[in-house]
Amino acid sequence: MWDKLWLNIHLATLRPSKTPYGAINDGAIASKDGKIIWLGKKSDLPNVPSKLASQIIEMDGEWVTPGLIDCHTHLIFGGQRADEFARKLQGESYESILASGGGVLSTLQATRNTSFQELLKIASVRLQDAMRQGVTTIEIKSGYGLNLENELKILCVAKKLEKIFPITIQSTCLAAHVVPPEYRSQRAHYVQWIIDELLPVVKKENLASAIDVFCEKIAFSLEETEIIFRRAKILGFDLKIHAEQLSWLGGAALAAHYQALSADHLEYMREEDVMALAKGGTVAVLLPGAFYFLREIQIPPIDLLRQYHVPIALATDFNPGTSPINSLSTIMNLACVLWNFTPEEALRSVTVNAAKALGLEEECGSLEVGKNADLVFWKIETPAELAYYLHGRRCEKWVKKGVSMDFSYFS
Ligand SMILES: [Zn+2]
Repeated sequence: MWDKLWLNIHLATLRPSKTPYGAINDGAIASKDGKIIWLGKKSDLPNVPSKLASQIIEMDGEWVTPGLIDCHTHLIFGGQRADEFARKLQGESYESILASGGGVLSTLQATRNTSFQELLKIASVRLQDAMRQGVTTIEIKSGYGLNLENELKILCVAKKLEKIFPITIQSTCLAAHVVPPEYRSQRAHYVQWIIDELLPVVKKENLASAIDVFCEKIAFSLEETEIIFRRAKILGFDLKIHAEQLSWLGGAALAAHYQALSADHLEYMREEDVMALAKGGTVAVLLPGAFYFLREIQIPPIDLLRQYHVPIALATDFNPGTSPINSLSTIMNLACVLWNFTPEEALRSVTVNAAKALGLEEECGSLEVGKNADLVFWKIETPAELAYYLHGRRCEKWVKKGVSMDFSYFS
């Protein structure tokens, strides 16, 4: 017997298929031990429902998608930067804001000054917002601590969140976010500290599965990035990179050379970098929220990515400075409106391709037998609606590994 069988639904499986969205109209889906055990047309069910599953759930014609995956966030941070936003709108430059202690330094300070318990409380609210909008798997980066105590504090908050909420959290150590002020005149020492002291502890305590480097003129050079990648790879971390966002440094190709899971941002990427991503099996994670919020005009080379069959993922990049957007459906809309994604491409980018960007493609990202029964039910007439509304859309029902979550449980 199957555990659960959902009926009276339509499925957007996102499997490779000639049908848009890999759709199955008038479908049914069943789970057993947290995995999808059967899906297809209701008329193809091998027996009458009551003989097939212990629990039959009659739905109301909703569309079911795989649980959404936000594969790039900085969800755990203290404070906010709304004053800075107002100053920027009045024409003040980022350099001037930075010089007065604003910018990323203010988030660094605010996060260091926020206790574990308080950070947990703030992050819990943000995480529940994401879950209500259909997210069942999320990546969370550190990077606002930048010393041992505070980087571990952020990563421990992420671990704790995963204990409290039934969501998959992939943690990434982004100690190479910026050089902290106390190391400004000795940046080589900071890189050395990351690889000699921080990463071994993070590995030993199993606090992150990947490391990330912000490879940019205002952050870390290509050479520094490679030093960190080399050691991280030896320690057994997966690799990620923030690359070619504001200028071209060659970080994406370097990441692909080291077979990074993903290279993220990529506005200034060139054709040879796209070829390198294709060769390295590295996913291109594009972040239209930061593009929008920073009023950027350089669009990532999306046609080249399509041409070379590089999987494209989209993510919120949720952070207080450059992408204060905690909604994947908003991000899907931005990708469609600003970059001409089709709604189907946008949905694939936050499911099947986002799973690959986290190395989880065997477990989640599409509705297929053997994958986790991570199911999101939407009261919509067509899956294109998911990219159509600019506001974050709430799902009707949220199921993780076959277990349904009652939203009244949420704060
Ligand atoms: Zn980021």
